[in-house]
Amino acid sequence: MRSEVSIPIDNSDPRDPAARCDRCGREGTIARAVRHTEPPLVLRYCGDCWPVAQEELEERQRDVQEQSKEAHRAWVDVSRRNPQAAPPAPQSPPGWSSASRSWYDVRKFLTLIAQPTQGGPAATSAQLAEIAAEIRATAIEMDGPMPPDVEEFLARHPPSP
Ligand SMILES: [Zn+2]
Repeated sequence: MRSEVSIPIDNSDPRDPAARCDRCGREGTIARAVRHTEPPLVLRYCGDCWPVAQEELEERQRDVQEQSKEAHRAWVDVSRRNPQAAPPAPQSPPGWSSASRSWYDVRKFLTLIAQPTQGGPAATSAQLAEIAAEIRATAIEMDGPMPPDVEEFLARHPPSP
């Protein structure tokens, strides 16, 4: 059986001032989404389109994963009934990764860590300070001015002396 494919983390700068947004056609993109097919499918988005584009991609990925789970369940059924004649296991769908310089993503992330899932560990103050440091380090590359709630978060987690 095929093992899980590891998804490379995309840390490179997603900004491309010369590229056109795949959604509205505007020049100047701040986000990139990559579907890990062979060859990879690379999509670029401007700051205005990225939040919506991201939702659409996530929704599409959920559908694809749902279909894949069903295909796998069907395959398990068949291979249980007749192990000799079973076809090869269906492959899992290619994953996505994305990178952006969008405050939307930072705010989404901050909301997420502010409400840890039930039973899940809350971020420690050291982790929060680390996140604040990362936000400070990339603030200059971000699309548009820093939103007030992000400023507040940084004020609550000042750089260590
Ligand atoms: Zn756009």
